[in-house]
Amino acid sequence: MEYTEFVLSDEFAVNFSSEILEDTSSDTTRVILAGEERVRSYLAPYGAESEEINFVCNHLEHISFFWSYHGGKKTLIAACKDQKDLYLRNLGVQVVDQLLMLKTKQVDIFVDKDIIVEKAKHFIQSALLWNYKFEMKTRGKTHLLSEFNFKFERPLTNEDLPELDFYKTAVFSTLMVRDMINTRANVATPEYMEKIIRHISSSTDKIPSFNVIQGKELEEQGLEIFYSVGKGAAIDPRLVHFVYKGNPDSEDIEYAIVGKGITFDAGGLNIKLKPEDMYCDKTGACTTAGILKGVIELELKINICFAFAIAENSVDANSYRPSDIYKSYKGLTVEIANTDSEGRLVLIDTFSYIQEQYNPKRIIDLATLTGTTMIALGDKANGLFTNDEEFAKAYITRGKEMHENSWILPIFEEHKQDMISDVSDLMNRGPDTKGHSSRAAAFMLNFINEGTSWLHVDYYGPAHLKSANPPHPKYATGFNTQTVLNLLRKHE
Ligand SMILES: [Zn+2]
Repeated sequence: MEYTEFVLSDEFAVNFSSEILEDTSSDTTRVILAGEERVRSYLAPYGAESEEINFVCNHLEHISFFWSYHGGKKTLIAACKDQKDLYLRNLGVQVVDQLLMLKTKQVDIFVDKDIIVEKAKHFIQSALLWNYKFEMKTRGKTHLLSEFNFKFERPLTNEDLPELDFYKTAVFSTLMVRDMINTRANVATPEYMEKIIRHISSSTDKIPSFNVIQGKELEEQGLEIFYSVGKGAAIDPRLVHFVYKGNPDSEDIEYAIVGKGITFDAGGLNIKLKPEDMYCDKTGACTTAGILKGVIELELKINICFAFAIAENSVDANSYRPSDIYKSYKGLTVEIANTDSEGRLVLIDTFSYIQEQYNPKRIIDLATLTGTTMIALGDKANGLFTNDEEFAKAYITRGKEMHENSWILPIFEEHKQDMISDVSDLMNRGPDTKGHSSRAAAFMLNFINEGTSWLHVDYYGPAHLKSANPPHPKYATGFNTQTVLNLLRKHE
């Protein structure tokens, strides 16, 4: 997919005055973003009935729109009564809707000097996120804006530019994640996933070695459980792992970002009745790929391990079976109570392997692991499970700053007990569906080393929407890409 061009400039072509409205020389549609008072004082001399300029007003709560038609040239004046983050965010969505209705391609957005740059970023974020549609149509394609050109009347400071640049990077990484998730499993196979990740990695020299353990090699190297999940599929499962070395002066790996990448989850022999949406079970790996893209572009100065647990959970004579017992990389034996609880299986071997190889201080795993987290929290928040509450709280704070919410859910001793099998150390699913999400987390906690901080992000709900929640569209949202990038850049 192609992405909208986004240009930032701090040279206001003309001051916020009649010159903008009366300049009909350029074909580019213009938007003026200003506080309500400034707009009123500006509009006053013309009056609503002015012959010279015809204003069409549209008042929404907290937001006013004025369309100015002058010499056949349209300018949208968007006024915000109060510079609250949420209002500017809503304004971004509304402005894009207005522009799309006009079939605008390019837009110059003039940000008036009374809009604080720190606040304008929320407008920019939501406008760019909302200007998105995934489609494979060859005819009747949805119209989208192809170029945003932001011009600030206020001179941009040394703090403003990197901040705006971060938002741009975080949003474009999110759009890439949406595309990757929305790509169907006939295209997005384990091989395709590896290819995309390899391509992103090749854009930096900070990744000294790119490693893949594939197919039978997984079993040979002791990742038997990982292999078992993907061995029924036509294309080999694989663990892709490497370190981004942003700080060559240190040996410490501050974070490991681990993504669950089930390219299609048919459920295995415990086959799903309705697997139609299960191309999005690779969301965690796609999100991790978007985070990688952002980290490279932002040139973050910390060392981060990236791991992608990629497999297709399919039905075949080679498929693993319910009741099979496998040995994990850590050595603990696991009975397969249900082949549809596969995400946790590829994740536990990945945890053990990367802890042995890289010894990261903290692990964040991103996984569309259980639908039951959505029953507790709805489709607009992550469920967090952790062994380090401070770490989880930092994640919540960094997420809120990017308008992505999370909530900590518990792992009780009872949840751990529920995952013990009669015949092996553990089983991959509890005796019934009660506390399903907490039990999954309790199961995985067995594979986190003492002293390693771990945060499990379970987010099937907000990852994939049944209807749009602006600025997120229907289907893949790219949720968590921005939160993790914000957390990593603010690492101290
Ligand atoms: Zn499953």
